[in-house]
Amino acid sequence: GLPSQTPPMNNRRKFVIDQIVELFEACRQQPSDLARKEMCRSRLQQDINRVYAVARLYLTGSSMNELGCRSSDADLCLVIKGNKRPNPLQVLPVLQRLFGGLLYIEKTQLIRAKVPILRFREKGSNLEFDLNVNNTVGIRNTFLLRAYSYADRRIKPMILVVKKWARHHQINDASKGTLSSYTLVLMVLNYLQTRKEPVIPSLQMDYPECFNPFVDVDLVPEGPKRIPPYISRNQAPLGELLLGFLEYYAIHFRWDKYVISVREAQVLPKTNSQQWKNKYICVEEPFERNNVARAVHEKAKFDAIRAQFAESFHILKQRRDLNSILPIRDII
Ligand code: ATP
Ligand code: MG
Repeated sequence: GLPSQTPPMNNRRKFVIDQIVELFEACRQQPSDLARKEMCRSRLQQDINRVYAVARLYLTGSSMNELGCRSSDADLCLVIKGNKRPNPLQVLPVLQRLFGGLLYIEKTQLIRAKVPILRFREKGSNLEFDLNVNNTVGIRNTFLLRAYSYADRRIKPMILVVKKWARHHQINDASKGTLSSYTLVLMVLNYLQTRKEPVIPSLQMDYPECFNPFVDVDLVPEGPKRIPPYISRNQAPLGELLLGFLEYYAIHFRWDKYVISVREAQVLPKTNSQQWKNKYICVEEPFERNNVARAVHEKAKFDAIRAQFAESFHILKQRRDLNSILPIRDII
């Protein structure tokens, strides 16, 4: 067989940490990536204002929450205010026509999902955009995730490696009945919150004024600036946290009994209310309290997700080499 690349036992701890950091440094969004997205956003904002004079366009998602990769798409939210809330399914076709005349945009496609979006590309780059209308909870939760990403230096690399792992194993696609990136992020955060010695607290409970869900959405991206990093007594290294995360969802977490709540930094008993009833995976949206994992509605997909956690846990525990669950070289 192939020569083993696994290092001797005494080096293994350090080895996985170094691999996670290497992957993170190679894949994390660069300032130039964000600049390109921001440039495109501001051109679009100007062109949209020809039709919707006072609309504002926001970058959201992993482009703004510090949890993005170089290859991440750019999520956009168009906020159109007024006393009569426009129907996204009336606005998006108007934008689709408008974008058809813009020379820097191509491949525009309207997707009629629960939150309808317009998907398009910037011409000449492979930068992909997903634009929604007035789904402002995405602006609020983007800045909550951003605050978590700064709460402890282990958060960003940990989340990036989990996203890459899930994508590699094809359990990171809500449109195919598996986990959205957003769901995965909340699962990682809740794992870190629920350790005996928590790695992070609930920022919404510790700083309620920074994450007030009623504050005007235009003011959200300005704050929160005053959240100091959390000093945890849990200084477990990244490799242990990754292994612990896999173990927790493979073995310990009771999917049938509990709801994952980042808002409360706890797991909550599953009630009979309709958003949790008959759902395989329950992950609470921190601001709206609905289930962000509702895409997982097939037993077979749920089983495949759990099986992947279990398989990767056992392999990583044995091998203590990130390559055993995620081929680093192919991903970088
Ligand atoms: P990636 O780097 O893979 O693109 P992402 O962090 O951008 O990951 P997505 O799942 O693409 O995550 O979601 C983008 C953003 O849309 C999230 O950061 C969140 O603000 C918002 N969002 C996604 N799903 C939901 C949901 N179910 N409820 C509320 N907001 C959501
Ligand atoms: Mg995204």
